[in-house]
Amino acid sequence: CGGPMNHAADPSHPRYRSLLMRHRLEVAAKRGMLADSAMIAHGRGEAYDYLLGETTIPSADVASQIALQALMQAEHPVLSVNGNVVALAGDEMLRLADKIGCPLEVNIFYRTPERMDALLTDLRKRKERLGLDVDILGANPDAVIPGLKGPRAKCEARGILQADAILVPLEDGDRCEALVAMGKTVIVIDLNPLSRSSQRGSITIVDELSRCLENMLTMETEALPSLDSYDHLQTLQDALNAIIIGMKNKFVEAIE
Ligand code: ATP
Ligand code: MG
Repeated sequence: CGGPMNHAADPSHPRYRSLLMRHRLEVAAKRGMLADSAMIAHGRGEAYDYLLGETTIPSADVASQIALQALMQAEHPVLSVNGNVVALAGDEMLRLADKIGCPLEVNIFYRTPERMDALLTDLRKRKERLGLDVDILGANPDAVIPGLKGPRAKCEARGILQADAILVPLEDGDRCEALVAMGKTVIVIDLNPLSRSSQRGSITIVDELSRCLENMLTMETEALPSLDSYDHLQTLQDALNAIIIGMKNKFVEAIE
């Protein structure tokens, strides 16, 4: 018996990682960092990850290398983070920003002063604990993303507004599209290859956020593939194929 953390404390448990991620979201929710729909968005992601076999598929690994290359080559790269991203992988996002040498901007869909404060405070504490020198933006929005209405359009001029390449994990489809319309290279991390963000992004990594970031953090930056080698539709198709082939093989195993 015992709560989910009993299993989460045991890395050999088959649901260890999944339970750990759920636990991180529960903690973040208690701290006021998440929107009410955060758990629903996570559940949608979990379902796709289950179908992908909870592993980084080869096409996602390649897309991650190309994404890292795009960020390293950009003049003004920015990493955009929302509540779920900070909760699930705040440390890894800060470490990636440090590796690339770029700022991180808190940019949330349901913006309230309380949530912004909770997220900025959490990130500043993480940054101090990690001993990193990363600019954390978002506290003083002085610009808007054209084509979006209300508080969700707010951003910083020296961050998201001027960025030529932007990483948007778990992004909403409308915002992703608005960023693409600004001419930016928009890099999406999303487990659902059918989401509008996945489809409309410039480069899409169909992988679980924390797994993808851990992978990117171990990559050598000298020998990354060129941006021209990226095939967007093929990358999305590969992810769907992995789901279909994985399911088919599971079924064969089950009836044999
Ligand atoms: P869109 O707005 O792009 O059409 P959506 O409305 O289906 O997508 P949202 O709730 O806007 O979904 O965004 C959440 C997205 O994040 C989902 O596509 C979900 O699959 C994905 N997601 C959730 N958790 C994770 C995770 N840990 N790693 C990667 N992707 C995730
Ligand atoms: Mg959406």
